[in-house]
Amino acid sequence: MTPVRLPDPWSLFEAALWPLQQAQVHCSVLLAPQLSAEALAQLRDARLRRLLEHARTHSRLHARRLPSLPTCAPIDLHSLPVMSRAELMADFEAGLCDTDLDAGRVETWLRQPDRVGELIDGRWQVWESSGTHGQPGWFVQDRAALCVYDALESLRSAGAGALSTLATGGRMALLVATGGHFASIASFERLRRTQPWLAAVLRAFSILDPLPALVHSLNSWQPQVLATYPTAAELLAEQARAGRLQLPLRELWCGGETLRPAVRERLEQAFGCRVRNSYGASEFFCIASECAAGGLHLNADWLILEPVDAEHRPVPLGAWPHTTLLTNLANHVQPLIRYALGDRVRFTGEPCRCGNRLPLIEVQGREDDTLQLLDRKGTAQSLLPLALSTVIEDEAGLFDYQLLQTGPQSLRLQLHTSDRPALLRARSALKQWLRARELGQVRVEGRLGCAPLLGRSGKLQRVLRLESCRLDRPDNEP
Ligand SMILES: [Zn+2]
Repeated sequence: MTPVRLPDPWSLFEAALWPLQQAQVHCSVLLAPQLSAEALAQLRDARLRRLLEHARTHSRLHARRLPSLPTCAPIDLHSLPVMSRAELMADFEAGLCDTDLDAGRVETWLRQPDRVGELIDGRWQVWESSGTHGQPGWFVQDRAALCVYDALESLRSAGAGALSTLATGGRMALLVATGGHFASIASFERLRRTQPWLAAVLRAFSILDPLPALVHSLNSWQPQVLATYPTAAELLAEQARAGRLQLPLRELWCGGETLRPAVRERLEQAFGCRVRNSYGASEFFCIASECAAGGLHLNADWLILEPVDAEHRPVPLGAWPHTTLLTNLANHVQPLIRYALGDRVRFTGEPCRCGNRLPLIEVQGREDDTLQLLDRKGTAQSLLPLALSTVIEDEAGLFDYQLLQTGPQSLRLQLHTSDRPALLRARSALKQWLRARELGQVRVEGRLGCAPLLGRSGKLQRVLRLESCRLDRPDNEP
């Protein structure tokens, strides 16, 4: 006989309070953009204190790293240690609070693509990311954090406008890497699971699909809202200009990569709709949202960003930093405190004419190149950087590499390490993927022990095209 499991009284209490907590978060997200700088600082400091106390008390990693807090004096965030992804992942279990999750269970979970969007034990969502660090990361979110991200997405970002489109039967397409527990697809699938009315109007498409198949699927789905990376949107814009892709788009949302002004203009012309930018990461899903006036407002009530130099000292207001440190005030299960994000974020210090008082930022994020290779018939095929990196990272498990286009039919996969088995594995996965796209004749050279090449912004690029390989028009952007 199966023993009857009585519900834990504390879980019942938590469940009863949950709607109240959700309502509180939504009210706070609505009100914070109108707060004065002093009131916002007070709110942020109170959340920071709660996070630090929780992290010190409940996580072995943070108990070792963080000093005890002064009870009355303000917290000096700059005096706290900086954390890297390597440090977080080296002691993954010790970095968690109040959970019996262990690395083995998380790893097993992440290997199950059919569970993308599900919460482990109904309580935690785990996102995997390679990012620009060259090292995989696992980011565990609790339900309170997911509630904050949902409120930020639906009330402050482009989501606010799209809800009315979807509520009247409009459709949305998400074009991203879909094969793993990545933040975008996992959040999208979670929404589809928890909001059945949305499941019928939301559909995800994979950037790994060949372009003609993708164009066919999107033409059939006819979305009014499309969310994707700027490089993928540019590829689709070419198809729209050629008349092959015809979508009734009202809004195009871009994220995940840097959206340059000239690209935005080209996209708006090709699709005849507004383009909205956003900035997020696996470490905090909705870092900044674009307002109607085109300003990118930092969600400074729920996270702290510190632009710093190479020695982690603050840079002057308006200056571009070496890197940016992130403190996530919403998530208590895996505290991220002064975590080195890798992106370069600049505070403009200017007010926005939309009336939102949350600070304006500019971001230099991922800036990989779209490659253009000639197939057997001599036709140029565009390959998205995120599709190529997904093949190398997810199918071959290689994270520290650079892929260079060195000619119209040649690539070079280079590693600064001497890990030959990883190189061969990734080269083989890449060749197989290229063959499926009529690009089987493309040569993929492998090299070990290479110094990394830096891209235009001075940042490490994973996928880049050497200038001599350009098959398209010269890029006249700054
Ligand atoms: Zn604004």
